[in-house]
Amino acid sequence: MAELLDAQSCESWLLEQFHPAGFKCAHCGADVSEARIFRRGQRTRLADYRCKRCARVYNLYSGTIFAHKQMRPQQVVLLLCGIQKDESAATIAHEVGVSWRTVYNLRRKLRTNGSYRMPTNGAAKKNGHGEGA
Ligand SMILES: [Zn+2]
Repeated sequence: MAELLDAQSCESWLLEQFHPAGFKCAHCGADVSEARIFRRGQRTRLADYRCKRCARVYNLYSGTIFAHKQMRPQQVVLLLCGIQKDESAATIAHEVGVSWRTVYNLRRKLRTNGSYRMPTNGAAKKNGHGEGA
């Protein structure tokens, strides 16, 4: 696992997990080659892409349960490993440096969805209480 934990490797690993069919615009489906990087997230250090076809912005986490989570790729990888090893939310939270509630919510979403992708039809919205991080 240690060799995965530089930012670049984590990003490419997550790319394979989140976008097995290829990294595309989350809005119009244009290939990432039709987008340009116009900034990097301050906390996530993640590239934000501006699609040349639809002019909207997306990143590696778009369309997944990690969208809008201000987590760096290394943190996401650590968290997923912890979940896979069935560690407690408190242990994972400590390792990753996020609140246990964040771990708890993400793990629950992961189990409910059965994948990293968010359901596209919005049907899974039962009680949309905010998740304080
Ligand atoms: Zn687009």
